[in-house]
Amino acid sequence: MVITLSDPNEFSLYFHIPFCKRKCDYCNFYVIPDKEQHKTLLLESLKIEWNESLKKIPPTATLASIYFGGGTPSLFGPDRIDQIINWIKQSFSIDVEITLEVNPEDVTRTLIVDYKQAGINRISMGVQSLDDRELQLLTRRHNVHKALAAIDDTYNAGISNISIDLMYDLPHQTTTGWQKTVQTAARLPITHLSLYNLTIEPHTVFYKYKNQLSQSIPDEESSFAMYTHAIDTLESAGLAQYEISAFAREGLHSRHNTGYWTGRSFLGLGPSAYSFWDGLRYKNVANINKYAQALQSVQSPVDTVDELSTEDRKKELLVVALRLLDGVNILQFEELHGPLSKDTNKTLRELTEQGLLEMGNHHVKLTRRGILLYDSIASELI
Ligand code: SF4
Repeated sequence: MVITLSDPNEFSLYFHIPFCKRKCDYCNFYVIPDKEQHKTLLLESLKIEWNESLKKIPPTATLASIYFGGGTPSLFGPDRIDQIINWIKQSFSIDVEITLEVNPEDVTRTLIVDYKQAGINRISMGVQSLDDRELQLLTRRHNVHKALAAIDDTYNAGISNISIDLMYDLPHQTTTGWQKTVQTAARLPITHLSLYNLTIEPHTVFYKYKNQLSQSIPDEESSFAMYTHAIDTLESAGLAQYEISAFAREGLHSRHNTGYWTGRSFLGLGPSAYSFWDGLRYKNVANINKYAQALQSVQSPVDTVDELSTEDRKKELLVVALRLLDGVNILQFEELHGPLSKDTNKTLRELTEQGLLEMGNHHVKLTRRGILLYDSIASELI
């Protein structure tokens, strides 16, 4: 599949639905308890934020995708999601990819049928592991049996565009265990898979035990072996890698996430949601009450604006676009974002000489080695 840089006329919408039944020990997202009063407050506030957001969107803009992320958006309920989709429908065609994140333990066939009727056409499921001991260590609320049943229920309920997340670099994870997980995943009726390696972030329970946990995390060599095994196994099963962490069946790459990598504008609604709009990145306050109070008193819920210089923004867009295995068409990139600096061009040449990038015909992309060492490429370029 060839993915080009985003059409400047397109935009996406992200809704942050922060409810979880329990916070996982490794999680550093903004998450709050699953309470009815919070849900009512969030829906009312999202309605205000949506009406304000509408004023920013030019009437000629085209909606490319909608994503309900969290937290656990499936806890919000099909009726509320239906209401949000209906607000959007009044101004834009919703004949687009509409993804809902779900957790396996909440999935029933009936629930997915109801979400499908609300307009959801893609499910992203937080499976994380297909090993019960790893799921327990991650303090997830499902087991492998439930995860597999949830994927089947989703498929049988009529949503066949299913993405799952898997994590590697977990404490006590072995290469053999990981290979089994990936081989099982490759046989599932899924269209997309995202791979994440565990990072132990501040303000998490894992962070308190960082030293202890770090001792049982696979070393760099095992980590590379796990990643390359996943790339090869998934590729053989028809799930081709199209981005550093993403794999898809032909034509079923995530339209929404591709927007993040190709510089598409998006509006993030809800507490702690990020936006990228008019070339600026900003983030809503990560507190439901402050978020709601700001909107109810006709103030902005934004609390941080990322003030990068034009040159830094351009470098960031290039680095993010390089995550796509198709690479970047330099001419197209410069047409959209302005010329690359001499320094950036020099670094690109050096990385090519080191065998990490491949350049030619105004196009630059990662080599196989570059895929494994993407983080160092990113830090060289930024
Ligand atoms: S389910 Fe996801 S969002 Fe909720 S606490 Fe666990 S990792 Fe965080």
